[in-house]
Amino acid sequence: MSDEFIRTEVRIFSMDMENVLREHDGKGGWKKNTLQSLSRMMQKEVDELEAEIDVFRSLARKRVDVPEVRDAIRREAIDVANFAMMIYCNAAINPKAGKGE
Ligand SMILES: [Mg+2]
Repeated sequence: MSDEFIRTEVRIFSMDMENVLREHDGKGGWKKNTLQSLSRMMQKEVDELEAEIDVFRSLARKRVDVPEVRDAIRREAIDVANFAMMIYCNAAINPKAGKGE
């Protein structure tokens, strides 16, 4: 894979991930979190994403489009992705991740 090519969707999505991570920079980080705790937090974000999708579907049935709901879906998708990224990274670089659980 070429280092120079990142498809547009991935580039935009990853930039949004970074923006959200920066909002939380003061919270102490995630690199010492266990895989299980990160997975639990990701599941909470999946639940939030599904709740927003339910709102969207309910409005769509009434043929109502609320841009704020679509924005909320995008934000929750970023939250899920950021926890998936943390799990991906901790599984690779932290040999103690997940121990003791
Ligand atoms: Mg969220």
